[in-house]
Amino acid sequence: PFDVLVVGGGPAGAAAAIYAARKGIRTGLVAERFGGQVLDTMSIENFISVQHTEGPRMVQQMEAHVDQYGVDVMTLQRADKLVAAKSPGGLHELHLESGATLRARTLILSTGARWRQMNVPGEDAYRNKGVTYCPHCDGPLFRGKRVAVIGGGNSGVEAAIDLAGVVGHVTLIEYAADLRADAVLQRKLASLPNVDIVTSALTTEVTGDGERVTGLRYKDRNHGSDHELPLEGIFVQIGLVPNTEWLRDTVALSQRGEIEITDRCETSVAGVFAAGDVTTVPYKQIIVAMGEGSKASLSAFDHLIRLPVS
Ligand code: FAD
Repeated sequence: PFDVLVVGGGPAGAAAAIYAARKGIRTGLVAERFGGQVLDTMSIENFISVQHTEGPRMVQQMEAHVDQYGVDVMTLQRADKLVAAKSPGGLHELHLESGATLRARTLILSTGARWRQMNVPGEDAYRNKGVTYCPHCDGPLFRGKRVAVIGGGNSGVEAAIDLAGVVGHVTLIEYAADLRADAVLQRKLASLPNVDIVTSALTTEVTGDGERVTGLRYKDRNHGSDHELPLEGIFVQIGLVPNTEWLRDTVALSQRGEIEITDRCETSVAGVFAAGDVTTVPYKQIIVAMGEGSKASLSAFDHLIRLPVS
């Protein structure tokens, strides 16, 4: 069995695996796709000490770093069930879709999350070419330009406020008749001179010139009329979905489906830890995920050295 088995190969999982392996304990990492969301990222400019890099390049370096420590890496494997140890100090079981079962003294869950998409024509074609999901990451790429934010919940309104200080103009588009964000955020938004708010609007298409986004089409849900906004960027903020469908009824999840963790990355099950976008940790970023993965791993090690000698 593994001493530490990491589920997920994004920044959180990679950091967890490196920290565990450096303790000289038997470490495994199972992932569907090594690199996670970073593989889908073009430009990264907020990973401190690296002024600029690209997602695939960072993933290569993460992978080389993990390999350096002899971690047993199993990719193209999807976990579909966790069976917690029956007694303290017993082995946890991880069931894979392939039918195999892996056993470990401690587990670190880091299966990440995915952005909810609009599912309209042009969204996929112009992803990273104007369509983006992360204001903290990509806001500065649209300095002085026109952008739309899709979604009037807290994350959409926060994004619009944030972007208004960086870009030229922001149009916030909300499907419902009213914004759902906290009143204090809505007041702040309404006070900004370079923001328009459009409610009861259904986004229907992302338009582009073949290279980059040039606009957004939406339907006014009250009058049925069609509109087109010329712009350079679209920030989709309609939800981040944690990859925890496979964990129902095993570890405690929040209302949003995130794994609930303590400040030491402990879950509700002893010996099972979690890190990164899949958890309740605030702010979903690469640097945060790596910090959390390291923390989860140190907690797992702390747990292991306290287990009764077998
Ligand atoms: P993820 O990166 O989501 O990795 C999850 C891992 O788990 C993957 O290996 C996946 O294959 C695996 N997995 C999932 N389910 C299973 C399963 N059932 N069984 C086995 N394996 C499974 N952050 C920044 O800091 N800067 C940026 O510039 C930036 N740009 C971004 C751009 C885009 C387009 C996106 C989508 C995100 C961006 N982010 C950025 C956010 C950042 O990528 C995430 O916060 C970070 O990747 C989270 O790391 P993670 O390890 O928690 O999860």
